[in-house]
Amino acid sequence: MKKAILLRFTAILLLALGISSVFSYYFTGRDMLETTRNSMLDTIHVVDYFLDYGGDLTKQLTRLHDAALDGNSRVTIIGTDGTVYADNEVAQIEELENHMEREEVKAAHRSGMGSSIRFSASMGESMMYVAARSEKGDYIIRLSVPYANMTDYICRILPVLLLGAAVAFGISVMMAVRFTDTIATPLKEISAKMERMKSCDFQPGIFRIYKYEELNVIARTTVEMAEEIRSYVERLEREKKIRQEFFSNASHELKTPITSIQGYAELLDQGFGQDDGIKRDFLARIRKETQNMTNLINDILLISRLEAKETQEVFADLSLQPFLVQIEELMESIAAEYQVKLHMECESLQIEASARQMRELLVNLVGNGIKYNHPGGNVWVNVYCCGGGISIRVQDDGCGIGLEDQERIFERFYRVDKGRSKKMGGTGLGLSIVKHIVKFYEGDISVQSALGEGSVFVVTLPLTVKRIT
Ligand code: ADP
Repeated sequence: MKKAILLRFTAILLLALGISSVFSYYFTGRDMLETTRNSMLDTIHVVDYFLDYGGDLTKQLTRLHDAALDGNSRVTIIGTDGTVYADNEVAQIEELENHMEREEVKAAHRSGMGSSIRFSASMGESMMYVAARSEKGDYIIRLSVPYANMTDYICRILPVLLLGAAVAFGISVMMAVRFTDTIATPLKEISAKMERMKSCDFQPGIFRIYKYEELNVIARTTVEMAEEIRSYVERLEREKKIRQEFFSNASHELKTPITSIQGYAELLDQGFGQDDGIKRDFLARIRKETQNMTNLINDILLISRLEAKETQEVFADLSLQPFLVQIEELMESIAAEYQVKLHMECESLQIEASARQMRELLVNLVGNGIKYNHPGGNVWVNVYCCGGGISIRVQDDGCGIGLEDQERIFERFYRVDKGRSKKMGGTGLGLSIVKHIVKFYEGDISVQSALGEGSVFVVTLPLTVKRIT
């Protein structure tokens, strides 16, 4: 890239030098011609002023020439008919031919002033002729000087011109190299880091501060992009791992009831169910395992729907008091089974939410409070309005959760006491489902618990709450 920029830069530089030379050649040449012509005209006027046309013109011309004019110049006094009366260079003026046909003389005769440039055979060089009419009589004064035109002039100054151009070219190329370095080097560094990113190295590192802000923007964006890609890749990998773990756990969880069912079915097949009591027991166990499997499959489906953020949820106004009564009715039988007393308390509130999700959330929390309790235990449910939403507080005086387990109970398939959970039809997914629902509403869940004393789960959901009067 650096080479390409330099090549282009050199081409542009040469073109600019070429164009500027042509322009200066043209305008300087024109200017030089004009200046010479004007100063020659001035000299003619001075000569005219001092000449006494009644006296000896040749003598006067020679004296004037010696005293005030340039050695190379030649003055000729010509009559309006073209006859030469005097010339400071030629003594025998009679030998000079009639000058009327000379271009400058013709023009001076016609319009008062004329000029021309031509090669003089007698002088052997290019001459400039300027002629003007005398203000004192019928005379034309002609002045001629050797004229070095622009081409001759340039030839003379060519070595200096070439040296100047070479120095200017050299300095410009040096500056161009430095300039391309300030652009090409950062771009090279940035593209090298991007190349590394392509080969999955998302550590672009720190870029230097470059001279041009635009390059800093590119460098910064590269770092930010790398950061984003890295966190995206990490997230994908994490999700992949979680998914793999989930599937292996789910298949493991399903394998257990299937093996049990298979076992009881084989026992029945082998005639172990002759006795009605044993047969009923086997069938009850099969039914229980089937229920466990159904629970598990339902929870797996629910959790994957929540993870895929598949929201076919119907959001509607939900009056919490009657809703809590429904939950109490739903949990009554299991509470009675575990001999646990339910205490529901709810403010007269209305929220807009999915009744299905709210039911799932409460059933899981209240269900756990009942399941991990002892006969005679209590579960208190308290729903109230808190700043910017609602709080659902589910407290029990059951077995409690150890501190080290409190951090992990929201993980999928994590159970503190696996045997007890399974016996109670737990899937190890309940709290994970609760956490997903809370996350769906951008809420928060916390747990406080002590072994043997019970647990308190508090869910806060930032929902618009209306008080019903
Ligand atoms: P499970 O289906 O096993 O109940 P959860 O995800 O609902 O699964 O709960 C995870 C684990 O957390 C349970 O197995 C249980 O050991 C513990 N746990 C949950 N709630 C309570 C509670 N209220 N009291 C004591 N332990 C609890």
